[in-house]
Amino acid sequence: MVPRPTRPALAVALALAALAACGGRPATTDGATATDGADDGAGATAGADAGDDDGARPDDADEPEDGDGAAGGGADAAADVPDVCVEHVVAEGETLWDIARSYGVGVRAIMAANGLRERQVRRLSKGRVLRIPGVTQAVPVLGAAARAAQLRASLPPLTNAAYHFLAPGETLWDVARTYGRTVDELVARNEFTDDDIRGLAVGRPVIVPGITDDQVRQAEPSERVGLVHVMGRGETIWDLARAFQVGVGQIMSANALSADEARLLREGTELFIPGVSEDRSGRVRRETTGVERSATAQARRLGLGTPQCARDLLNGRVKRSWIQAAGETDRLPGTLRWPVAKGWYVRGWGSGEGGYHLATDIMGEMGWNVRAAAAGLVAYSGNEVRGYGNMVIVIHPGGWVTTYAHNSVNFVVAGQRVPAGGILAELGSTGISRGPHVHFEFIFRGQLCDAELLFRPGVRHRNGRIESLRYVTWTDPDDRPASIRCAARRHHPRSRWVENETPEDEPASEAGGADAPPDEAGESAEPAGTPPPEPAPGP
Ligand SMILES: [Zn+2]
Repeated sequence: MVPRPTRPALAVALALAALAACGGRPATTDGATATDGADDGAGATAGADAGDDDGARPDDADEPEDGDGAAGGGADAAADVPDVCVEHVVAEGETLWDIARSYGVGVRAIMAANGLRERQVRRLSKGRVLRIPGVTQAVPVLGAAARAAQLRASLPPLTNAAYHFLAPGETLWDVARTYGRTVDELVARNEFTDDDIRGLAVGRPVIVPGITDDQVRQAEPSERVGLVHVMGRGETIWDLARAFQVGVGQIMSANALSADEARLLREGTELFIPGVSEDRSGRVRRETTGVERSATAQARRLGLGTPQCARDLLNGRVKRSWIQAAGETDRLPGTLRWPVAKGWYVRGWGSGEGGYHLATDIMGEMGWNVRAAAAGLVAYSGNEVRGYGNMVIVIHPGGWVTTYAHNSVNFVVAGQRVPAGGILAELGSTGISRGPHVHFEFIFRGQLCDAELLFRPGVRHRNGRIESLRYVTWTDPDDRPASIRCAARRHHPRSRWVENETPEDEPASEAGGADAPPDEAGESAEPAGTPPPEPAPGP
């Protein structure tokens, strides 16, 4: 893991040790505030509606540090000003973001405590006194340049690699594209966890293998690909992921949102949606990479990537040529990686009414990734098979097939090779109250097999405990270990689709809706409240 600047949360706890009364109206005693113009008089209430302005937007051209609370939380911060504070005198060139970061206090909280409006934030005048809420001691404030220099000096030197520092709104996917690397290469070199990836914010160093310091490119804000989206009424970050096909984790990273902030986004909040652009007719599209284009050509040659291909694979029909393209044909990978690094087991093979559920369901947090259980070739990445939502299917050497369904976004395309543990997709949710999960199927020679005994490090529980089972290895296609159960796909006793696997207390409409593929054969959608249905691809 790369050393990186910390984001102290201590200040909030210190608020309990009240030293001085800092609530109420902001200070107006300081003469320097007059230079900020006439806005000050109305400033006391400004914090409450700050959430819909753009002051903290990460793509601010003149402000390299986007700071905390890029979105949301404005009203809460205003209503919840701690009654301790210190007074900080603004020095030449200091920005509110510098100050917020140095004190470990959110930009919004400082704005609320001082009745600052967005436009005042952009030009804090030297000598102005700011109340820093919840803090009991003044600290030196480092500017962005000083912080970057300090950070660089503290990073270990690299051989055959260089540090790239994330620009505002830039994600790991952008960095991969900029340097012609894959996200998997960057993740491996930096030893990033899923939490690291979704938490990557502006200024963080990312090690890029195979380049020199001279080759490090600093993206200009205007060059970054992305759109600014204003949150509508009732809209969630999941809706954005679905609409723009950009991961929740990417949106969180690009906007420096914590998980709580991402959950509590308010109407009117502006968010930067990275990696997408709008064409002249206003259609939003995701930028494709060279890797994706050549993979798509390969998929076309092999007949991969189509809905028919997906249905064939789900029914155990695997073409010889596909297995050959995936790797050697006489030896299986042996074991499967647990597909969500810190994800936890919720239900397994043979669960559900009548034992219809011949798959493993793994839950995790929003923004976490779904990873390839073994190296292979992506055979399908799409949402055209009814009930599965966004699904990736991978063919592995020897003919194993694994599927990963209900993703919020798929990051791979058919025809692409993936390493074991390679990022395929982002964990999706069929209802936020239950949380995102992956429906994992393991298919071999026409049957759905129980993957549990093949998982490494094993079947993981929420507390991190690995279930103790008699784990096995399976390398010979003709010699399946006796303890691995396989069976033909079963139909749910009352339903055709796997569309909503959530428990009965959850409205079915959460799941199907937006990412449900077009109807097949005139089937209508399940009525609301249908119990967990069953996948039934093809006849
Ligand atoms: Zn499932």
